[in-house]
Amino acid sequence: QDDLKNLAADSDFRAHHVHVIGGGVMGGDIAAWCVLRGMRVTLQDRGPEQLGRAVRRARQLFQRKLRDRYRIQEAMDRFIPDHQGNGLGKADVVIEAIFEDPAAKQALFKDIEPHMKKDAILASNTSSIPLQQLGAGLVDPKRIIGLHFFNPVARMPLVEIVTTHETPPDLARDANGFVRRIGKLPLPVRSEPGFLVNRVLMPYLMEAVILLDEGVPATDIDRAARNFGMPMGPVELADTVGLDICLSVAEKLSTLLHGKVPGNLQALVEQEQLGRKTGRGFYEWS
Ligand code: NAD
Repeated sequence: QDDLKNLAADSDFRAHHVHVIGGGVMGGDIAAWCVLRGMRVTLQDRGPEQLGRAVRRARQLFQRKLRDRYRIQEAMDRFIPDHQGNGLGKADVVIEAIFEDPAAKQALFKDIEPHMKKDAILASNTSSIPLQQLGAGLVDPKRIIGLHFFNPVARMPLVEIVTTHETPPDLARDANGFVRRIGKLPLPVRSEPGFLVNRVLMPYLMEAVILLDEGVPATDIDRAARNFGMPMGPVELADTVGLDICLSVAEKLSTLLHGKVPGNLQALVEQEQLGRKTGRGFYEWS
């Protein structure tokens, strides 16, 4: 723990340009948040549709937070959809937020490493893949760090800063400084299954999924949790996070979860019913 506290010391690292790869639920919102905090951001995705959706969500966020027409326009000017990845080589921080697929992430990191500035931070928003695995194909595998944001990005203050024993202390300090500068609360954690938050949260979500399987209606489970004081019930939260992401984290933590992940969760993911983002998960979402 002392070791981790040392990594949390501040640094004078300054990021002006952030490049985010993956413009889905998380990447789009991380990009918009960094713009809101004054940075210029290029957002890369394979699909123009995803970029269009991210731009619309960003505009809504700026309208809510900035109100003034000129400030909203200034923010929109700093939010740059970047289908080709032209911003990569200019960025001080690169944040990867593509699908939770180890092979896809590894291939992407290998691809982008030669095009990045030498001293830029290379971060992954992975929820469950060990950093050692992500960095395996890199010339400098120690340069990958985890910046694990939570959903919804604009409302959740915490960002886990995920490191291994090999992570250079300067890198962890710079990442810590970056997270503070975008107005979030850094929590240094090691790259262990579930990091910290999901290790605590996932058994709770999975118990709710097991209850569903036992025939308890989703609305009853969510109402009970809200009456208890939770801002959102566990079934809606699972749908909001995305069932593919929940499954991936649950698999990594399965030894803590009765040794297996619930079959109903697996079945929905196989049917591409991933929650809010596909319009259907445990609930129907319009
Ligand atoms: P998502 O499915 O909503 O978005 C992924 C995006 O990545 C898609 O728009 C896809 O087109 C794009 N993409 C895929 N491969 C690409 C490539 N090679 N180049 C460019 N773009 C590519 O997923 P998400 O929920 O935003 O999750 C993204 C990451 O964030 C995952 O690693 C996940 O574990 C992590 N995460 C998710 C949550 C959550 O609540 N959903 C919370 C914290 C962390």
